[in-house]
Amino acid sequence: MRSQNVDRKSGMNMEIRKKKFLEMSSTARINAMRASSPTHIKSHPLALHHNVQQPSALDMFEQITNASKGKQIVMFMDYDGTLSPIVDDPDRAFMSDAMRATVRKLATCFPTAIVTGRCRDKVYSFVRLAELYYAGSHGMDIKGPSKNSKGGEAILFQPATQYLPIINEVYKALLVVTKDTPGATVENNKFCLSVHFRRVHENKWAELAKQVGSVLEAYPEFRLTQGRKVFEIRPTIKWDKGKALEFLLESLGYANCADVYPIYIGDDRTDEDAFKVLREMGQGSGILVSKIPKDTNASYLLQEPSEVMAFLRRLVDWKRLSLRKQFMLKSRLEGVKMSLPI
Ligand SMILES: [Mg+2]
Repeated sequence: MRSQNVDRKSGMNMEIRKKKFLEMSSTARINAMRASSPTHIKSHPLALHHNVQQPSALDMFEQITNASKGKQIVMFMDYDGTLSPIVDDPDRAFMSDAMRATVRKLATCFPTAIVTGRCRDKVYSFVRLAELYYAGSHGMDIKGPSKNSKGGEAILFQPATQYLPIINEVYKALLVVTKDTPGATVENNKFCLSVHFRRVHENKWAELAKQVGSVLEAYPEFRLTQGRKVFEIRPTIKWDKGKALEFLLESLGYANCADVYPIYIGDDRTDEDAFKVLREMGQGSGILVSKIPKDTNASYLLQEPSEVMAFLRRLVDWKRLSLRKQFMLKSRLEGVKMSLPI
């Protein structure tokens, strides 16, 4: 049961990566954990030159909207660190009312999806907007709004259901091994697990990595990746945020379509899969949320959630203005038609 339907090739690659991480010296492991979990952003030598590699999406706003002309924009956004600030307690990663109001307006202009590593129900409890698409557990739990534009049934797609019993087993084992590491929390995201070390003292990071590794050695069908102060544990099926993006575009009727312009905004390593899909499609824009330059497949940068909100607001204003212009042009043409002699 445990190893059924696992992509062997991908599983093996992931296993090598996991093994490599587990075999690192504790100094190398700490450096890897530090690199993906920047805490001293202000002291970073390149912090003031965040757009060295990619330009700011705010500076390039016109270029982005010009590229989308005549196409349907579809919005995809990660949650933690993108719509909400990264906070010490992951259970309190609330989004501001202003951000919620902005996302609500955005969804009246474009189909809008939240793509997150979190459990879908959990992220919904933070966002509370029924009109959005939600892809939880790194895209392994996708649900559309109950009232969709096509009037059909809500989309529901869960490609990793077979792993549910074993995920609960791994969850319990992680709770046991991490219970003596102060500040460590294990989050059950339904189809994947997170071990947060936002509140763990740096001198305990190596120990925590060892504890997590010791559990995963017994479960080759799971892969371990690292995000911002979090270990992510998920099945080795070939499914990620990039696949979720493709699935949602297809569900919206834009499979292999040139008339769509997806915009994906995210801050995490797991968002790179989606940026890569956009690059390969040669359509849309990937926007990385980061204060420091990173090796990324995204085309643009935004520094933090406040800049994300500013960008989303500009998109709403731009769309409303273009709709108003279209309406006025139509009215003028109808006026001209009416004034013509029959
Ligand atoms: Mg994030």
